[in-house]
Amino acid sequence: GLETREVSAWFGSRKVLERVSLAMPAGEVTALIGPSGCGKSTYLRILNRMHEMVRGAALAGEVLLDGDDVYRPGRRPAEVRRRIGMVFQRPNPFPAMSIQDNVSSGLKLAGIKVSKEERQHLVETSLRRAGLWDEVSTRLHTPGGALSGGQQQRLCIARSLAVSPDILLMDEPCSALDPTSTRRVEETIAELRGRLTIVIVTHNMQQAQRVSQTCAFFLATHDTPGRIVEAGPTGQIFGSPRDQRTSDYVNGRF
Ligand code: ATP
Ligand code: MG
Repeated sequence: GLETREVSAWFGSRKVLERVSLAMPAGEVTALIGPSGCGKSTYLRILNRMHEMVRGAALAGEVLLDGDDVYRPGRRPAEVRRRIGMVFQRPNPFPAMSIQDNVSSGLKLAGIKVSKEERQHLVETSLRRAGLWDEVSTRLHTPGGALSGGQQQRLCIARSLAVSPDILLMDEPCSALDPTSTRRVEETIAELRGRLTIVIVTHNMQQAQRVSQTCAFFLATHDTPGRIVEAGPTGQIFGSPRDQRTSDYVNGRF
């Protein structure tokens, strides 16, 4: 699994996360919820070392992947990003590249060499796991950009899966999708659960309850950086939150 200990983050002199400690159990889905600007996306980028690509970004604390600090000196960011994949709010396949090349594109970037047969097998397996195979198996050569938004998002999930990550980070993966596509992505998440550890940011409270087992509520104010107000089993966060602010947020009162 994945765990952070006392993670704080800054952009320049501005602190945006304050000592965030959270355990994201292996094989489960953890949902990160909270108002806009509370640091959820920043936290996700810290987990797979994308945060350090932002100019002026700084960090303190530990991120442990199966007990091993991803920021350990000498550890390569590219290796961390291979093991911890990310899917974004806007589906971002390479639009002119074929569906199958989109799926296998991560292999090349990660420096993974495979035979043509292995690559074909990986493309099929990844598309099956992403729940897209049945819709595209007869047209693997068509451009990724020709798919619907929901299909493109599942294509991006397949692309992430092709390099066999341990963790999949999803930053509002459904907020650009229609209800039917959202359902398909949620089904995909449910199928991946167990095989992968998933961390999903969502503004959709029903979605958080449908897909996650653990939930963390983040909050920032005008003069305090984002922090976790409350985290625990999803049923508890929604059913019997301990903090009034959690209760207000999950019930749509702010
Ligand atoms: P949303 O729900 O709107 O996506 P969020 O919880 O994901 O919000 P972040 O995007 O992580 O919030 O932003 C947290 C804080 O960090 C915000 O105050 C934001 O303005 C600031 N921030 C984010 N990215 C940068 C950046 N590249 N440079 C400077 N400040 C940034
Ligand atoms: Mg965000």
